[in-house]
Amino acid sequence: MTTSVIGYPRVGKLRELKFVIESYFKGDKNQTELLGLAKTLRAEHWQQQAENKIAYISSNDFSFYDAVLDTANLLNIIPKRYQQLALSELDQYFAMARGYQGPKGDVHALAMKKWFNTNYHYLVPEFEATTEIKLVGTKPFDEYQEAKALGIETKPVIIGPLTFLKLAKLPTGQTYQNYQTAIVAAYQEIIAKFAQLGTKWIQIDEPILATDLTKQDIQFFEQIYQAILSTKGSVNILLQTYFGDIRDCYPNVTALAFDGIGIDFVEGKKSLSLLEQYGFPNDKILFAGVINGKNIWRNNYAKTLPLLTQIKNQTNKLVINTSCSLLHVPYTLQSETKLTIAQKAYFTFAQEKLQELIELSQLTKEQDPTLHRAYKTNQTLFTRQREGTNLKIRQKVAALSEQDFFRLPEFNQREKIQKQTLNLPILPTTTIGSFPQTNDVRLNRAKFKKGEISLAQYTSFNKQKIAQCIKLQEEIGLDVLVHGEFERNDMVEYFGESLNGFVFTEKAWVQSYGTRCVKPPIIWGDVSRSKPITVEYSQYAQSLSSKPVKGMLTGPVTILNWSFPREDISYKESAFQIGLAIGDEVLDLEAAGIHIIQIDEAALKEKLPLRKTDWHSEYLDWAIPAFRLVHSKVKPETQIHTHMCYSEFTDIIKEIDKMDADVISFEASRSNLEIIDVLKQNNFQTEVGPGVYDIHSPRVPSVEEINQTITKLLNKIDKQKLWVNPDCGLKTRGEIEVTASLINLVKATKNIRSEL
Ligand code: GLN
Ligand code: ZN
Repeated sequence: MTTSVIGYPRVGKLRELKFVIESYFKGDKNQTELLGLAKTLRAEHWQQQAENKIAYISSNDFSFYDAVLDTANLLNIIPKRYQQLALSELDQYFAMARGYQGPKGDVHALAMKKWFNTNYHYLVPEFEATTEIKLVGTKPFDEYQEAKALGIETKPVIIGPLTFLKLAKLPTGQTYQNYQTAIVAAYQEIIAKFAQLGTKWIQIDEPILATDLTKQDIQFFEQIYQAILSTKGSVNILLQTYFGDIRDCYPNVTALAFDGIGIDFVEGKKSLSLLEQYGFPNDKILFAGVINGKNIWRNNYAKTLPLLTQIKNQTNKLVINTSCSLLHVPYTLQSETKLTIAQKAYFTFAQEKLQELIELSQLTKEQDPTLHRAYKTNQTLFTRQREGTNLKIRQKVAALSEQDFFRLPEFNQREKIQKQTLNLPILPTTTIGSFPQTNDVRLNRAKFKKGEISLAQYTSFNKQKIAQCIKLQEEIGLDVLVHGEFERNDMVEYFGESLNGFVFTEKAWVQSYGTRCVKPPIIWGDVSRSKPITVEYSQYAQSLSSKPVKGMLTGPVTILNWSFPREDISYKESAFQIGLAIGDEVLDLEAAGIHIIQIDEAALKEKLPLRKTDWHSEYLDWAIPAFRLVHSKVKPETQIHTHMCYSEFTDIIKEIDKMDADVISFEASRSNLEIIDVLKQNNFQTEVGPGVYDIHSPRVPSVEEINQTITKLLNKIDKQKLWVNPDCGLKTRGEIEVTASLINLVKATKNIRSEL
């Protein structure tokens, strides 16, 4: 059996790409330097895979920002507002990604959304009435040739037409059918171009097939691919699916003239049974995704080898594949100097997964693989008891009962009580928590981590920043303040570091969006809290102001979802363990005189199954209770906030209400406030702060703009329930723009208040 990789991480071993792009944004690096580094990285990544004898190596998996945005550019989906800026091609691309504010104009970015069930975010292609799909770009061809020049034959990766159209925002009144002819022609042309270049395989990604599809979707899929495949000539087409099984369309997909089909056997719970039920056509190659592209635990060969045998019973044309792009795991374990050898033995990152692929492929060739050293070494990990077990915590979780998940009195009564005790003005203004993480903040943390300054010095610096931050917020005139989160590098890592049961990496970065990367902790063992985590800074911040300062925590679902989860116990059990720990912190904050506590669930939807039928049974039935567990024991006067971002919540709005928070803030500005109608339709109880401007882009919103947004919100939301805030934390932004934006936010709110 040979091996294949769906895609490789792009940012580089030490996030080189991120740094050069950001320098380019600042004007410190020019386009030549940027393009040069990108080329070096691509070469390195291809060579690594070639050295590991991967038979099917991807190209065009590289991106300066996002592959969906690349596809939009490739296919001429460029809204007029960007074209009018008359920027260079590269700068126009970045304007679409992050908005543009400068001498040539002022335009906002494309909307950004979560990429299926990952923590990666893509930019939403935006069609206008006059948009014409046609092949205008050359990136996939250039990169294919670039690899070829290095002596490496690659399989270019293209996002498939159905996935692309279904993720795009089409003009009102248009459906994907309107684009059928044009998109078929464009993909035919892409394939024809590759044929000219002598390309052997093209990988077309259709992750949308792992989601709920309508009959119409399937029919459209069949029609466009029949047409595309009818002219494919000598090029082999691999239809690649991932993030789950393709239960809605397995027979339809296998009946089409693809040369290879990529199926996910890690997340695809039904993949094997589909294969066994319908068989697999013997004229095609099955690319079997058995190496988890989303998690860092070493593959258990005692499970995977029998699985491969079962698959082999259905077809012997088999390639061993990753389950999805390795974009979602860090680059290499080699950069980790602090993990113990014993810990490292359990993990594989992208580079190590290449070795796993090879090892598995070799083992499948053996008569009795269990006699082999690679197999035996692998099995020592899975047969011995791992450190990190805490029986007390396990018992606590087992003993939880109904009342641990219910807060009393109920919401309506609490709302009245809190209006009296907190005595906030109408349309209270606040922020989501973090303030700019300026260089001095990062330097202070870095020095402390290296042992160059004492804990006292470190803390005193942070307190100085907190004091400045409180003063700034008072001057701006915000109503509910925050301490600014200067002690936090990341909302999950910070809590992970303070809880038992997590291990940390130094360089294990994973791309979240554009140049933003996250370094998820690894849930290694049972989770518990030994002492208060946030109380000292929160209490200090509150002591500086007569206005309420929000305590700021991360919720259990987000901590779980933004960590690499365990594979040896259930998500539910992990989430409840974390919920108990954060719940103790909530009570400590309350006891310390903090009246408003925000428990962020930014990643609430991250592990929501892609198919609706699995939502409750596999996810919401434990995720929502995990949140409730955290705040069920607070006093009625204590106001619980939560915050969510990036994804669309319209479809789980009822469940969000059932989290039973008192106030929720969320991202809305990028998706055009569509969610507001849904709140109204569902008679949403929780008070809401839909973000009134987009913090993911560096532009400063005007008073007028915010004014309009608030007015729009007031049309749909009871003024007694509306809060005014940005759509997310401010840590990635600069101080000057943040101050200017918040001044405008408060001005706009005051204008409107005076009219109410
Ligand atoms: N409180 C966090 C912050 O402001 C929330 C971050 C997030 O939602 N991603 O940074
Ligand atoms: Zn957010």
